[in-house]
This record gives sequence, structure tokens and C-alpha cells, in this order.
Amino acid sequence: MHISPLGPPTGADAVPDSHGLNLWRADPWARPLLGLYLAPELLAHLEPHLDRMGALAGGRLDELAGLADRNPPVLHQRTRRGEDAQRIAYHPAYQEMERVAFGEYGLAAMSHRAGVLGWPEPLPPAAKYALTYLFVQAEFGLCCPLSMTDALARTLRKFGDPALVARYLPALTATDLDALRQGAMFMTEQGAGSDIAATAVRAAPLPDGSWALTGDKWFCSNPDAGMALVLARREGGAPGLRGVSLFLLPRELPDGTRNRYRIVRLKEKLGTRSMASGEIALEGAVAWLVGDPEAGFRQMADMVNASRLSNGMRAAGLMRRAVTEAVFVARNRIAFGKHIVEMPLMRRQLVKLMLPMEQARSMMFQTAEALRRSDAGEAGAYPLLRILTPLLKFRACRDARKVTGDAMEVRGGCGYIEEWADPRLLRDAHLGSIWEGTSNIVALDVLRAASREGSLLVLRAHLHGLLGNGAELPEALPALDRAMALAEAAQRDQALARQAASALYHLTSACAMAWEAGRLGDAERLALARLVLRHRVLPRDPLEAAAAEVPDALLAKALAA
Ligand SMILES: Cc1cc2nc3c(=O)[nH]c(=O)nc-3n(C[C@H](O)[C@H](O)[C@H](O)COP(=O)(O)OP(=O)(O)OC[C@H]3O[C@@H](n4cnc5c(N)ncnc54)[C@H](O)[C@@H]3O)c2cc1C
Repeated sequence: MHISPLGPPTGADAVPDSHGLNLWRADPWARPLLGLYLAPELLAHLEPHLDRMGALAGGRLDELAGLADRNPPVLHQRTRRGEDAQRIAYHPAYQEMERVAFGEYGLAAMSHRAGVLGWPEPLPPAAKYALTYLFVQAEFGLCCPLSMTDALARTLRKFGDPALVARYLPALTATDLDALRQGAMFMTEQGAGSDIAATAVRAAPLPDGSWALTGDKWFCSNPDAGMALVLARREGGAPGLRGVSLFLLPRELPDGTRNRYRIVRLKEKLGTRSMASGEIALEGAVAWLVGDPEAGFRQMADMVNASRLSNGMRAAGLMRRAVTEAVFVARNRIAFGKHIVEMPLMRRQLVKLMLPMEQARSMMFQTAEALRRSDAGEAGAYPLLRILTPLLKFRACRDARKVTGDAMEVRGGCGYIEEWADPRLLRDAHLGSIWEGTSNIVALDVLRAASREGSLLVLRAHLHGLLGNGAELPEALPALDRAMALAEAAQRDQALARQAASALYHLTSACAMAWEAGRLGDAERLALARLVLRHRVLPRDPLEAAAAEVPDALLAKALAA
């Protein structure tokens, strides 16, 4: 940017524009942190892909995301010749983003088969989330179909009959867009959202072993997906949750005809406007039972948990983009004859934005690592995964609402204008706390993990492990005991669930960041971990002047990229 020696910049020069920034290179912690969670040879292999994704996300993808956001999908009922043939028309910008995400990068396929991005094995969760974390910094809406396709493949592989898996898995994990069939999840009904036991869609057995589904589904994202997992109540089945089974619903039947369901209309949404969410009427649609008929909800929970982890990662990515924009503006915008980043009050504000963003990133990697270990069958990894997932989904999605809003303010009036990414980030961020379980439901799930899986004890052991393994954060120990006691109290009084979930999240993220700091020899990350404890966990005197504690070295590091 040109700064005139005679005074502040004028016209276009006065308005900082980050377009074209490589979002991988602009993130000083991206590479060092990933080095803690990926094997060196895999990181070396992925680096060019991460670098390219960073360039795309800060450039072409960002343009496409803006276009797709302003041109939402449209449902057409008939062809121009009057034939009944429903179709959703997507903007070409959305289709180009699909080619990048599903095709070039294979983000939905990489956990399920070898060969994606030239790697001879399926890629571990940390690799997938590191790449998607960059993608989502440009485009949030498409991450829902991506995540559902990935999670559907996972749940089908885990519980599906081998013949069903053999028939549908190749299309779900294709990177050739003509062969690809995306995934969806049709669970919510008008009378059954959080309360799945109220599911009313009916399933009747057919002579060939398949089932006919009838009834309405009220929220169906990616409604024209090639296949969906659906919850429905078996005719003659037990009341309550045991009567609810999981079904695989293909859009096309094996004979090539359209299955018997209709998209009734598309929702007009605050965010995720690039992606279609609709209502579906099932009119005797043919579906196949997946797994144990009495364990439909438990099996669907596997897909939901995978999606919740993905949602936490997306919240972390939205916050990262918001912070990148805020830092860029602060470094380049001039007011009162200075770059605004030089103002003490702005510096403090930037650290407040960075803190929840870095917490979410550490929690994302910790949860991804627990998933890898759990899938490898390591002892204690599953209960850890079961509690880290709702902790991440609950708190990171809530923090993303605030961080995207406050980052918008750093851009001043331009932050409120739809030509910039800020409004899109804010609108998208609000959905994270609602879908895949609202904040209340996800906080209650933390308690469920504690009571059913013994996850609290496992989490405590994990945090002691981090603290005993290079994390210089001794002040976390007494707080840890108190947070555990709070979580136990919440099991007796649900009204405490959110407070307990927040406390566990903040402590876990502080310990993880301190552990990362120890491994990297990184004093600034340790300073962040201490700030988490001080500001988000330990009791504080609200009248105490805390301005002096904004560490300059921390900002210098964040601003270095
Ligand atoms: C854009 C969008 C896309 C979506 N896509 C999909 C999709 O693809 N597939 C799908 O199946 N669903 C989808 N959903 C639905 C979404 O997951 C649900 O809306 C959400 O789970 C909440 O369910 P509900 O709307 O029925 O609200 P309710 O369950 O009625 O909840 C209303 C309020 O009550 C609270 N509440 C409920 N139970 C309790 C409790 N025990 N204790 C305390 N508070 C409680 C909730 O926290 C919430 O604040 C989508 C939603 C949106 C907005």
C-alpha cells in the first residue's frame, strides 16, 4: 500500500483490501502446529497442497464464495417442456467450488481410501481438518455437503451391510464429479428436532427386504444429494427411540429411476446461502436398513458426532479468517496519523479476538488426534473423543459468533458492507450453534459422555498427561479439580451444563496450548495459554486494571506473517 509522505492515504489506498493473501502463509502458527499433529513426511508431502489451498482461499475461492452467497440455489419443478423433473440449479461459482473441494482435493474421500492427493493410505483426520480449515476460511456453506458426504461414508462403513457398502461407497468417495454421489442427513422433523424419540416418519417393510418411507422431513441440507441417511419409525416397532431405525435412501433406484420423494421447497436462510437446505416429502421412498434396527439413533449419533467435530473445525476456521482480516486492516488502516494497530486499545482488542481462535484450533487438533487414536482402537481414546467433540462444538461455535462480529468492527463501516467477507462470516457463524445440536443439547451431551462413557476421568488423565509432558502451566491443576467438581454437579443439575462445558473447554484448550508451547519452545503460545486461564477460567476482580498484560511479543508474532 502506498502511504503518501504528505499525509494519510486517500481514495482506494485508504481502504485496506486483503484480497489475494495466501491464508496458509498469513498464519504464523499454521505450519508449526501442524508439525505437532502430523508425521514429518506427511506434512512435507502436504505442504504444497496446503500452500495452494491457502492461495485459493484468499483469492479465487473467496471470490466464488461471495458470488455463490449472493446467488443462492433455486428449485425448479419442471423442465421447460413441462415434464415433472425436480432439479436444483446452483450458481456456477458453487459448482466450481465443488470441483475444488470434492474433486481436486478429495476432502470428502481422503479418510476412506488411499490415493487422494497422491498419498498411499487414507489421510489422518488432522490432515483433512487442516486442509478444510483453510477451505472454510473462504466458503462455509459447501462444507456442510462435504462433511455429510464424509460422515455418511464413515457411518455406512461402520454399520452397513457389506453388500450395501460395496454398492454405495465407491460413489460416495469418488473424486470424479460425474461418478460422485454426495451425502445428506434427513433427521429433523417439524415435531422432532432435538427430541429424536418423537420421530414420526414411518418405515414399512417391502417384500424384497427394502423399506418404504413415508412422511415429512423439515430440515434437509443438500436435499438433492445422491444418498441420505434417514431416521424413521418402523411399523410395529417399539415406542420411543428403540423404534427408530437408520435407513440409507438413494436418490436414484438401482433401475435408474428417481426414488419416490420430493423436495417441497428450499429454505431462505440467514447464512450458508450458497448451499441448498429444503423440506422433503417422502412418498413411499425405497430405503435400505443400516445396522441394528433398534440402534438407529445410536448409529446416527456416529454421523452426528463426526459432523459436530467438523462444525467445531469450521468455527475455528471462520474465526481464523475473521482474525486475519482484522489484523490486516489494523496493520494497514490509518487513523489519527497512525496505523490503527499501534493504538493500545486496538492491540488489546486484537488479542481478545486471537484468544478464542487459537483455543479452537488447539481443540480441533486435540479432537482430531483423539479420533485417529479411537479409530485405531487405542485404549481410552473413545471416551476422550466422546467428550472433546461436544466441548469443541459447543464452545467454538459460540465463540465464532462473537469473534466474527467483533472482527467486523475492526474494519469499521466497511465491515458491515456485503462486498467484504465479514458479513458472510458473521451470518455463517450463527448457524454453527444451531444445527447438529443446539448449544443446550450439545452441552448436555458433554454430561452424557461423562455419565455413560466415563469421559470425565479420561479427560482428567489426558490433561494431567499434557501438563506432565512439557506444559508449563502448574496453575491449571487446582482449576482442573474445580472444573471436574462443577461437571459432576452439573450431572445432578442440568442448569449448570453450559457453565461446566465452558470450564472444561477453557481448561482443556489452555493445557493443550501450553503443551504445544512446550513442544515448540514457543513463549508466545504459552502466554496465550496463561491468558485463557486468567480470563476465561479463574475468578477475576472486574475492577482490576488488566491493560498492561497484553503481551507485545504475542502481537508481534501474530502480525509477523
Ligand atoms: C440451515 C439449517 C440446516 C439444517 N440442516 C439439517 C439437515 O441437513 N438435517 C437435519 O436433520 N437437520 C437439519 N437442521 C435442523 C437442525 O439440526 C435443528 O433445527 C436443530 O437440531 C434444533 O432442532 P429444532 O429446530 O427442532 O429445535 P428444538 O429441538 O425444538 O429446540 C428449540 C430450543 O429448545 C432447546 N432445548 C431442546 N431440548 C432441550 C433440553 N432438553 N434442555 C434444554 N433446552 C432444550 C434447544 O436448545 C433450542 O434452543 C438444519 C437447521 C438449519 C437451521
